[in-house]
Amino acid sequence: MEHDNHEKLTHFGYQKVSPQEKTSRVRSVFDSVASRYDLMNDVMSMGLHRLWKRCAVNRAQIRPGQAVLDLAGGTGDMTRLFSEALKGSGHLVLADINYSMVHQGRDRLLNNSVTKVDYVIANAEVLPFPDNYFHCVFIGFGLRNVTNKEATLKSINRVLRPGGRLIVLEFSQPNTWLKPLYDVYSFKLVPQLGEWIANDRDSYQYLVESIRMHPDQSALANMLNEAGFYKVQYENLTGGIVALHSGYKV
Ligand code: SAM
Repeated sequence: MEHDNHEKLTHFGYQKVSPQEKTSRVRSVFDSVASRYDLMNDVMSMGLHRLWKRCAVNRAQIRPGQAVLDLAGGTGDMTRLFSEALKGSGHLVLADINYSMVHQGRDRLLNNSVTKVDYVIANAEVLPFPDNYFHCVFIGFGLRNVTNKEATLKSINRVLRPGGRLIVLEFSQPNTWLKPLYDVYSFKLVPQLGEWIANDRDSYQYLVESIRMHPDQSALANMLNEAGFYKVQYENLTGGIVALHSGYKV
């Protein structure tokens, strides 16, 4: 049987690459930026990412005693907020494919006295958790980076318990009036900041390109529906620079 190699290609930013190459290049990006990741987030977003994350945790409506997965949890910002919401009870897991990011996150959370967390190195596409386990799975600025979004959404659906909630926080399509300014800011300034602060222009060039390649608000909502979620909805934050999607497992 003939293989059509083009069908198997995916995107790393604007470049078309094989799925294996995307996975390995995304890994290199986060290996490279891990130690400067938090500082860069504050500088690039002018602190706004903290507000976006607060909105996400409010949306999640976590109650003490629940099982919560911070998927692609990286350096643990959301894990810290979930830990506050759980008030020391329940089960909190930070899972990420990248050891460098999790290592930074674990140190940071321990420094902030957040101790009741399980850390798991895992690929979101094939989660190593039982069926029907979590009350809430959150993925923040992670879905854009996985190689296979459909597989990731299905894998999340499997580990959520019926009635459990998926929350996706991700860059999206800004409103038309904001777009020209946003384009200048992100294409001209963000890679430059990456060079100055993280000594890594390429990773931040990837960041801005990957945002452009990510499905817009309604396309992502459709993907959630197709993966089996119901009551799918989204809200735009900061004029659509970021969107907060949610859906329930049937
Ligand atoms: N959620 C954190 C936050 O909001 O600050 C970190 C977001 S960071 C932009 C993206 C994270 O996704 C990285 O830590 C990266 O290692 C992780 N990631 C990328 N592909 C993944 C995959 N297939 N499975 C799990 N994590 C993945």
